[in-house]
Amino acid sequence: MTDALRPLAAPLTAPIGEIVASRLRDVPDFPVPGVVFKDFTPLLSDGPALRAVVQDIAGRYAGHVDVIVGIEARGLILGAAVAYELGVGFVPVRKAGKLPGHTHSAEYDLEYGSAVLEVHADAFAGGRRAVVMDDVLATGGTAEAACDLVERAGGSVEGVEVVLELCFLNGRSKLVGRPVHAMLSL
Ligand code: AMP
Repeated sequence: MTDALRPLAAPLTAPIGEIVASRLRDVPDFPVPGVVFKDFTPLLSDGPALRAVVQDIAGRYAGHVDVIVGIEARGLILGAAVAYELGVGFVPVRKAGKLPGHTHSAEYDLEYGSAVLEVHADAFAGGRRAVVMDDVLATGGTAEAACDLVERAGGSVEGVEVVLELCFLNGRSKLVGRPVHAMLSL
């Protein structure tokens, strides 16, 4: 059988939280000592699991949003897939200096120091309804900065969607008033 004729693997039937939990890998002391990095590349590399995650997210927003916003870097990967599934547009939120057009910028705190995210200033013209996506919600600073950028550019944040939420870091406290959904909360 050629690859073109090979049937797709059967859809997964387990609850989405279990699908995610069994495909996250803990990497201790990355990128700095003391941090346990939640690596979701095993999830990305598993076709049926990736499809299940994308379809689960898309199902929450079908008909309610105009655009998916993905935060660099891993939110770009997932967000583009969800936008494709929904048939809506995709807007990247990128680190400083990466976007070529006129941008809005937002500075936010990291565990050590700060960073800047940017979005194209014309990306939400006409008040587009957006979902902001990332892989992990930790302290919430990244997602908060992305939401601020959407709103400053004239869009509305209909939801913040993450694969994994690290509850002990209380990221939701920075996103009060914005609906947050996590497929897995630890
Ligand atoms: P924060 O701004 O603290 O919510 O951090 C969220 C951003 O940092 C997301 O873009 C994540 O990809 C990344 N991040 C923070 N902590 C972790 C972690 N323990 N494992 C994987 N990614 C993380």
